[in-house]
Amino acid sequence: MQETGRRGRKLGVMGGTFDPIHHGHLVAASEVANRFELDEVIFVPTGQPWQKADKQVSPAEDRYLMTVIATASNPRFSVSRADIDRGKVTYTVDTLREMRSQHPDAELYFITGADALANILTWQDWAELFELARFVGVSRPGYELNTDHLEEHLRDLPADAVTMVEIPALAISSSECRRRAAENRPVWYLVPDGVVQYISKRHLYVPAGAEGS
Ligand code: ATP
Ligand code: MG
Repeated sequence: MQETGRRGRKLGVMGGTFDPIHHGHLVAASEVANRFELDEVIFVPTGQPWQKADKQVSPAEDRYLMTVIATASNPRFSVSRADIDRGKVTYTVDTLREMRSQHPDAELYFITGADALANILTWQDWAELFELARFVGVSRPGYELNTDHLEEHLRDLPADAVTMVEIPALAISSSECRRRAAENRPVWYLVPDGVVQYISKRHLYVPAGAEGS
């Protein structure tokens, strides 16, 4: 991309399993892009997700393609294969190191839901995370949006290291979409139309043995 590395670009980075990507993810990216005047938001589907190592996750290629389908119509959204192609468990710090090396002069904004933010900052090398990007925590129905429990970490950081943003509440989760698809209930209007069709075409989330029924 010819603009890569141009000084002063502001890039959002939205990591996720995206199994499947849904309107909660898209609204979060869109709201943060508007609020921080981002030039682009890069969606980065995870490799084998470490938080979910014990759970069944759809093939990376399917998650990648659904993310491409869902973001294709937005000129400011793009998708990176970085985590998928690294071929191992994804840590946010690795995602951000790679985004930093691909876009050395850009300002990075890591976008994450209230639930995931707490995990990332509790379990990972948070000092390096804050050198790589600013963090934007978005509200999510059912989860508390505050940084009280991170107080100890945040004390020595600049005030803009973590910003909490209230976004339109969409009580949608990928887990619920998978459950619905498995039970033959609709996922229309929870995920983009093309993703509904992709799920059905690839028979994703159909319980083993029930395929073709
Ligand atoms: P699962 O139910 O499988 O965990 P999920 O819906 O939480 O899926 P993820 O791919 O795990 O989706 O989430 C990627 C990122 O998007 C996380 O930072 C998560 O907090 C955020 N996110 C997911 N759904 C919403 C939502 N409805 N509103 C705001 N943020 C969300
Ligand atoms: Mg999740």
